[in-house]
Amino acid sequence: MLRLYNTLTRREEPFAPAQGNTIRMYACGPTVYARAHIGNFRTFVCVDVLRRTLKHVCGHEVRQAVNYTDVDDKTIAGAQQAGVPLRAFTDGWIQAFREDAAALGLETPEETPRATDDANLRAMSDLVLALERNGHTYRRDGSIYFRISTLPAYGTLARLDREGMQDGARVDVDEYTKDDPRDFVLWKGERPGEPSWDFGTGPGRPGWHIECSAMALRLLGEPPIDIHAGGVDLIFPHHENEIAQSEGATGKPFARVWVHVEHLFVEHEKMSKSLGNVYTLADVAARGHRRSALRYLLLSAHYRTQLNFTWTGMDQAEEALRRIVDCLARLDEVPPGDAHVPVLEAVAAARQAFQSALEDDVNTAAALAAVFDLVRDVNAAIDARTVSATDAGVVRRAIEDFDRVLGVVGLRQAEDARPPMPVEEIERIVQARQAARQRRDFAAADRIRRELAERGILLEDNPGGTRWKKK
Ligand code: AMP
Ligand code: ZN
Repeated sequence: MLRLYNTLTRREEPFAPAQGNTIRMYACGPTVYARAHIGNFRTFVCVDVLRRTLKHVCGHEVRQAVNYTDVDDKTIAGAQQAGVPLRAFTDGWIQAFREDAAALGLETPEETPRATDDANLRAMSDLVLALERNGHTYRRDGSIYFRISTLPAYGTLARLDREGMQDGARVDVDEYTKDDPRDFVLWKGERPGEPSWDFGTGPGRPGWHIECSAMALRLLGEPPIDIHAGGVDLIFPHHENEIAQSEGATGKPFARVWVHVEHLFVEHEKMSKSLGNVYTLADVAARGHRRSALRYLLLSAHYRTQLNFTWTGMDQAEEALRRIVDCLARLDEVPPGDAHVPVLEAVAAARQAFQSALEDDVNTAAALAAVFDLVRDVNAAIDARTVSATDAGVVRRAIEDFDRVLGVVGLRQAEDARPPMPVEEIERIVQARQAARQRRDFAAADRIRRELAERGILLEDNPGGTRWKKK
């Protein structure tokens, strides 16, 4: 049986769905104002592995919602800077996210709501009004705030010391006036130049926290939902506030299990724009690495440990993945014949170890160790000529089953099978880059270079012009 670490209780607990065989799961999705970075994708890949574990190891059905935060301070500022309407601005980033998610082999969740869809804005407004009816709110200058002193359980998830929370500096600070610095905004009153809606709250826009509570409750049914997930930075205030809103409105617990993924670091430093160490998938590809290797790296450590991204680590991930793929290729060459008991035993042991590892709080590091034990045993048996085509089928099926959860081998095979780009298209893109350089638009030129690198084409600028070659 699966055991999952629950941030709410700070313990590993046996896990089963509350209703029937279906897991109702919500994961906070990206804020769509820029390309998501590989740190964001660590969380999304780990949540994807959890989803696949629930389906393929535990045999559950999964109903998962992952939202797009398409209205907040950053998206509004981005749209203003770009001079386009908010919805058009976030459309582009949603598309970019979908492409990256597909390239990393993320399964598409059953629900991918946008906060600004009418049905969701309506649900947010209704939730705010329910909180108002239940006496958890106050209004100030057109905005509506959650008064946390009305909810004694506030702070349970983050284990906040209620007295210690008096210091407003650490709490959700924004420019709006609040009675108490710990209070947070539910609905932001209308401001010039900002989008505004009114479904009964008065004109304005939703606060970030209410978006997730409302979409989770609308799309996943009666609370409590089974699992709520996100990165560790969301525990406070975001998830604490989501709980306050949902429980304050419904009077029922919001989520049974809270799963939090630790951060990705880069060369031992926290990934941040100011340090210039924020990498996107395109940056990783530009260094000649494939998405399958990145996915491998992101899931290679247990999700509750910090993971340090290095280029050496990427090389090792490439190498590890190659070992699995090479072993599969060797299996295609073995002669026909009867099964060999030691090979069958190695497969059975690997299956057992793989399952136990994932049932132990989704321990992907141990699950991969089980895969590599099998690869090592099979390689040794091939060297000793004690593997037949019958055995090969059994090993291949096991690795296919493992890959239903890991999703790296299939991704690599799909990358290998992709046809190269037509030469005319490369030439056309190189010309477009040349034109960008001539008008001194180096940002565009760089972007084109990166995009080509991502598709396996490297450019070399010489005095006589630009040459391209296959990676
Ligand atoms: P955002 O787009 O900022 O709302 O973040 C999307 C998701 O990425 C959230 O679940 C964050 O907790 C997560 N996240 C942000 N930075 C990192 C990081 N360095 N490592 C892992 N997850 C992260
Ligand atoms: Zn959220």
